[in-house]
Amino acid sequence: MSGFPGCSWCHGKGCICCPAEEKKAAERAHEPLIVARRNDPGDMADLKELFGADALRHAFGPDGEGMAEVHRNAALFNLKQALRKWNPNKTRRRKD
Ligand SMILES: [Zn+2]
Repeated sequence: MSGFPGCSWCHGKGCICCPAEEKKAAERAHEPLIVARRNDPGDMADLKELFGADALRHAFGPDGEGMAEVHRNAALFNLKQALRKWNPNKTRRRKD
């Protein structure tokens, strides 16, 4: 049995979960990494920090990790966005 390399159960060795994992991955591939809302200042600030020119230059520069870094920044963006929705008052940026 040839497995799906992205299978989180067998990592591609081949198991009964491979077809379902492959289907889920295909569905995720059509979703955007992030959805930033223009009218949300928190979204716009995080967008600039995590996907601005400096962030992309770093990701694809000599010290960067390319798409892995972009995906990590997307995960961070989505986490921060979810926290803001959950409790807007406790996730505001601190003023140093
Ligand atoms: Zn598998």
